[in-house]
Amino acid sequence: EMLKRINATIANQKKNKTVARASEKYTYDYLIVGAGFAGSVLAERLASVGNKKILIIDKRNHIGGNAYDYYNEDGILVHKYGPHIFHTNSADVFNHLSKFTGWRNYQHKVLANVDGQLLPIPINLNTINKYYGLNLNGLEVEEFLASRAEKVYPVKTSEDVVVSKVGRELYEKFFRGYTRKQWDLDPSELDASVTARVPTRTNKDDRYFTDTFQAMPAHGYTKMFEKMLSHPNIKIMLNTDYEEVMNEVKFRKLIFTGPVDEFFNYKYGRLPYRSLRFKFETLETSQFQETGTINYPNDYGFTRITEFKHLTGQKHDKTTLVYEYPEATGDPYYPVPRPENELLYKKYAALANQLTNTYFVGRLATYRYYNMDQVVAQALSTFKKIMQSELSTKLH
Ligand code: FAD
Ligand code: UDP
Repeated sequence: EMLKRINATIANQKKNKTVARASEKYTYDYLIVGAGFAGSVLAERLASVGNKKILIIDKRNHIGGNAYDYYNEDGILVHKYGPHIFHTNSADVFNHLSKFTGWRNYQHKVLANVDGQLLPIPINLNTINKYYGLNLNGLEVEEFLASRAEKVYPVKTSEDVVVSKVGRELYEKFFRGYTRKQWDLDPSELDASVTARVPTRTNKDDRYFTDTFQAMPAHGYTKMFEKMLSHPNIKIMLNTDYEEVMNEVKFRKLIFTGPVDEFFNYKYGRLPYRSLRFKFETLETSQFQETGTINYPNDYGFTRITEFKHLTGQKHDKTTLVYEYPEATGDPYYPVPRPENELLYKKYAALANQLTNTYFVGRLATYRYYNMDQVVAQALSTFKKIMQSELSTKLH
């Protein structure tokens, strides 16, 4: 009898111990991999509206993903992963981000250095007049371009888009060299969507973007991300790769914002991503160039030089520039939009769709050449989808 009781007590203690251990192991509702726009927007929504417990991790030593900015050793605010200019036509996206930052109005302008001249890009009326030494008005320039444009049907590639609008000469001067440098592909090998990002205008509008909302976060992107993620339901873990914690933390659902092919261990082979090397330079002068960015389509190894103070409006007696050198290897920055890559991506997307309780969001995870606002929009719509599915599991 005594022995029985002792054994029962020991068994009970053991049981209690396991119970105690299990409750010590904190369970998250969501593990979010990547603290860029995709991950951070979802973390905040799920934590504050969904009242979910979130663990967000990033393998880098900072939040913000590719939009991360910081003050360099001279005290100038710079973007670590190249110039980021916020622009959107979506009031929803703009209003959402406005909960976490004020804004500084900023209309980005770009010049292209062609044959030693600085000409507005996107190509507009002034570009044509200056390049050809003409004095056309808006109507005349339309006729002028129509006479040079090549008939292409259907418009499929990044070459088609441009030659069908402005003809071969301007295509070669402004697009062909830049594109070959940036992608190591001829424009004829890239989807139309790539060069279609840069329109052709017959008016004098010399802004790079024409979106309704164009502004920079008043105190920088990183500050905006800090505010977004500062919620008691959100834990942040930096310097942490998904592989390191996937079996260590308990979570109910997963949101992955890294490269989708990496997630599936490159099962079908690697998705191509284009990378860049950034060279920063600080000069002992207050201004270096007349616009935020100058493109170099045909000369040098870099594609463009950006002077941050134009973007941020910062006053400083020094100035910092960034040169962008395209590279085949390095951090994955750009998906490469072309048919064969889309086919390969579709195979990964099919695998992704088979997984329950796992969501793929963002530029790398959905292999889309998305701007920041498009990623925010995608994250907000994923949030809605997630809340609906949480609701339907509760009801069943
Ligand atoms: P990311 O910002 O790439 O975030 C993904 C995060 O996941 C990264 O921080 C990464 O470290 C982390 N991660 C990946 N794998 C793992 C893993 N296994 N474990 C842990 N963490 C992981 N957009 C604009 O709207 N305007 C611009 O002017 C503009 N300029 C750009 C200039 C350049 C040079 C580049 C490269 C992009 C630019 N963009 C611009 C696009 C913008 O950067 C993206 O749309 C946006 O940052 C994508 O957010 P994301 O969350 O999808 O991805
Ligand atoms: N592009 C070009 N010449 C230019 C600017 C852009 O040929 O002066 C082409 C090039 O292929 C580039 C693409 O258009 O990769 C998109 O340009 P964008 O400025 O949108 O590139 P991002 O800022 O995303 O690097």
